[in-house]
Amino acid sequence: MLALIPLARLGHAQSDDTVPIQQIDAYITRTMRSARFPGVAVGIVKGDRVVYLRAFGRADPSGRRVTPQTPFLIGSVTKSFTALAVLQLVDAGRVELDAPVQRYVPWFRVGDSTISSRITVRQLLTMTSGLPQVYETQFWTDRDDRALERTVRLLATKQLTGEPGRTFGYSNANYETLGLIVQVVSGESYENYVKRHILDPLDMRDSFLSQDEAFGRGMASGYRWWFGIPVPVTLPYRRAELPAGYIIASTQDMMHYLIAELNDGRYGNTSVLSRRGMALRHAAGPGNSYGLGWEFVRFGERTLINHDGGTANFQSSLFIDPAAGVGVYVAANAINALDAFASPHGLSPLDGQTTRAMAHVILSLATGQPLPSEGIGHRRLTLIFDLMIALLSVALVISLMRIRVRHRRMARQGIPGRASLWSRIAFALVLNLTLPVALVYLSLAAPAWRAFALFQPDLLYWLYAVALVLFIKGVLELLFIGRVYRQGQDARFMARRSHIETRVVVVGGGVGGLAAARHLDRLLGGRREVEITLVNRDNFFLLSPLLFEACSGVLELRHCAQPIRPCLRRVRFLEATAQEIDVARRIVRVAGPDAARELPYDQVIIALGATTNLSLIPGSEYARTFKTVADGLLLRNHVIEQLERASTEPSAERRRGLLTTTIIGGGLVGVELLGELTAFIEDELRYYPDIRRDELHFHLFEAGKRLMPESKPFLSEYADRLLRLRGVEVHVATPVQEIGPAFVRWAGGRVESQTIVLAAGIVPNAVAAAANVARDRRGRVLTEPTLRSTSDPRVWAFGDCASTPSPHGEPYPALAQHAVRAARTAARNVAAVIDGRPPKPFVYESLGMMAAFGHTRAACDVKGLKLTGFIAWWIRRTYYLFQMPRWDTRFRIAVDWTVSLFSRPDLTKIDLAEERELEQRNQAANGSRTGSLAS
Ligand SMILES: Cc1cc2nc3c(=O)[nH]c(=O)nc-3n(C[C@H](O)[C@H](O)[C@H](O)COP(=O)(O)OP(=O)(O)OC[C@H]3O[C@@H](n4cnc5c(N)ncnc54)[C@H](O)[C@@H]3O)c2cc1C
Repeated sequence: MLALIPLARLGHAQSDDTVPIQQIDAYITRTMRSARFPGVAVGIVKGDRVVYLRAFGRADPSGRRVTPQTPFLIGSVTKSFTALAVLQLVDAGRVELDAPVQRYVPWFRVGDSTISSRITVRQLLTMTSGLPQVYETQFWTDRDDRALERTVRLLATKQLTGEPGRTFGYSNANYETLGLIVQVVSGESYENYVKRHILDPLDMRDSFLSQDEAFGRGMASGYRWWFGIPVPVTLPYRRAELPAGYIIASTQDMMHYLIAELNDGRYGNTSVLSRRGMALRHAAGPGNSYGLGWEFVRFGERTLINHDGGTANFQSSLFIDPAAGVGVYVAANAINALDAFASPHGLSPLDGQTTRAMAHVILSLATGQPLPSEGIGHRRLTLIFDLMIALLSVALVISLMRIRVRHRRMARQGIPGRASLWSRIAFALVLNLTLPVALVYLSLAAPAWRAFALFQPDLLYWLYAVALVLFIKGVLELLFIGRVYRQGQDARFMARRSHIETRVVVVGGGVGGLAAARHLDRLLGGRREVEITLVNRDNFFLLSPLLFEACSGVLELRHCAQPIRPCLRRVRFLEATAQEIDVARRIVRVAGPDAARELPYDQVIIALGATTNLSLIPGSEYARTFKTVADGLLLRNHVIEQLERASTEPSAERRRGLLTTTIIGGGLVGVELLGELTAFIEDELRYYPDIRRDELHFHLFEAGKRLMPESKPFLSEYADRLLRLRGVEVHVATPVQEIGPAFVRWAGGRVESQTIVLAAGIVPNAVAAAANVARDRRGRVLTEPTLRSTSDPRVWAFGDCASTPSPHGEPYPALAQHAVRAARTAARNVAAVIDGRPPKPFVYESLGMMAAFGHTRAACDVKGLKLTGFIAWWIRRTYYLFQMPRWDTRFRIAVDWTVSLFSRPDLTKIDLAEERELEQRNQAANGSRTGSLAS
């Protein structure tokens, strides 16, 4: 409310009873409130007297009040100043109105040079030159003296919009060129000229030609609307556009200017223009027209002189009724493109700006003329605008939410043929990509778009956001359409497959097996005579490097695995356990949930992986393993259970056992697991106030001389240092001699521990090791470099269950990165053999190694690049994220990781066996109770 108190009451204003002051005050207050103008200043001149001069509202966000002396940017009202300067030079005989512009600026050119020579000074003043509006912004904010010249020179690259002298076309370029003529003819800068010949003689002390200077002298802040709310913004001052729209003046100073206009160029004892010059300046053309720096507006019998100004954060308007000898000036420190629709109509095609409407109404009040009708009003218009934006946004959100529903319906109905496919694609493209494409085009190719961006940023950014969402939606819909079509095609293809000549069976759908099946799908899936079958014990595949975080709960347990069926197109999938690979009969014997069956093959790929070696250390059956999703879940439950029990355990000895975690095996898996467990248990400790940090004990045993012997020393040193810092007792060169129900014994001692995990070595899968093909002494299938069995040309093997010589002679290590690459080579080689081509050897140079240790710590050595800490942790995560074959799972993982960054550790312990037991006990108890009630 304070902002709306007229400053007259505070002694800042001046008025005279020849105008209806209260009516004018009330009108301004009402309009300000409706238009949400932060600040407004209004002045009225009658003859040579200021009869009204008041300021309302605030000048800037600090709440400083607007006064009649507060400088505002006057926008295009500046053009009347530039025209005045030119007419002064005409008065002085230094410029001729009908002389060609090239007389003063010889290089001046617009498109065609012959036509350019015909453009005159008068045509520039009346905007009939045909000069186009120039939206290129590169020189606008240049601060040096040549900024104006550079902008005018840009016209050489433009074309005229019409024949010079014929038609009116509003363009700032006319007044920028006039500003340059003023400079050239006067021999001084436009700023100096205007100051010396207009501002100083008119005693305009609070008027400026530089924003920096004006800010130093209390210039108001400009505001732009964001969805109807004015937000302060400081925009760059455009020196190159100064003669067309960037003079800064106070309302009081504009009264001096109006007095000169109404009094033949005289203000007090000074004159800024001859009577003849002023008559020329005020000579209206027929109807509504643009004269020498003024617009003439016919309103009934009266012809009013006017100019409006609008930059992206200020607006102003000046009206003169020459017959009544009255002039009005209104300035506001805010603008909204909606102003163009908010105000009453009836003056001219340029109608619409709010200050223009205000100046017109105030002039009518001051001269006793009938008031123009009120327009729709700013408040209502803003409401309609905001409502429209909200409704469209809601419609967009609903349409996004319905993508799944539409997709499901489409999947149910299917896409019958190509015609239907193309029509759906075309519809999705038009619906979703028209706006994004149009916006990209407009922002690149339509310079006027920049002006829109300046004046209506809320609508612009909303449009960009909508375009982005529509683009993503469009891409998603295209993906869905493609997927449904492909699935239909695949299903039809599989149903019609006949005369199968070659059967390829992939046994084992882990990291390597699934990659091989997918690659075979791509290479051979489309061939009717080839049938590919993948057999795996589970209907999902596990990305082992993510198992650590799944165990600690950073990752939802299911998200370290990926269902196999969605990854395959034309490969038959069988969830079954392979029991035997009978190479003599060329069959794989499998046992499914209901029955056993035999799968004949022409080519078989063995990718059954390995299991933990339980025969190395006596008592290994007492230790837990860490290979499968079930292992991850069981270990997690066990660790939480130990904390629960320890928190209530009174015996110090038993507590020690419960709180001691032992990992046997200091290779990659053991080290990463212990890293994750130390971080997890430490995080969980905050929920167990009865357990002290120093009660936790961790032991890591490694038979070799250093941790992670498979990696470079840099990685093992980092792991050793970090684990010791976390309180782990690292025992290297320490082979464990015995594992008991709750203890571990080695040559130098024994530790009581309820949590023992065995990660010391692997043995090839038993089914692979039992196949009647050549094997090494550990039972791994021996292959040639091509991954083909050395003893059976129809058998292929790779990954943890195979031994394939690398170019260095050593077998490739049992690592996922090798298994995935080998899988592709195996698939290519099988396809080659089917087509009668020779297979190629598998050659792969390791990328390096990465190991994570929880709490955003990791180390990696990739192609010699050694990184540790957060960056290494981030690289490892990103790498494994992209090892997941499908985007939906990747997205789920990314969400889990993001949530875990900001949330507390998850303590949930779901033990399905325990739950079932509980349920059965409850049922039994309920049964006996009902029984006793009945008897
Ligand atoms: C916890 C953990 C973390 C690891 N981290 C890394 C790492 O960071 N970097 C790295 O390079 N390597 C890592 N590895 C090693 C990597 O996971 C293996 O080298 C890789 O998985 C081997 O791939 P594979 O296809 O040979 O076997 P697997 O991926 O083990 O696949 C074997 C598949 O065969 C199935 N299967 C087994 N028996 C049968 C049967 N009888 N019938 C049907 N199906 C059967 C299994 O269910 C499984 O799906 C890690 C291993 C583990 C256990």
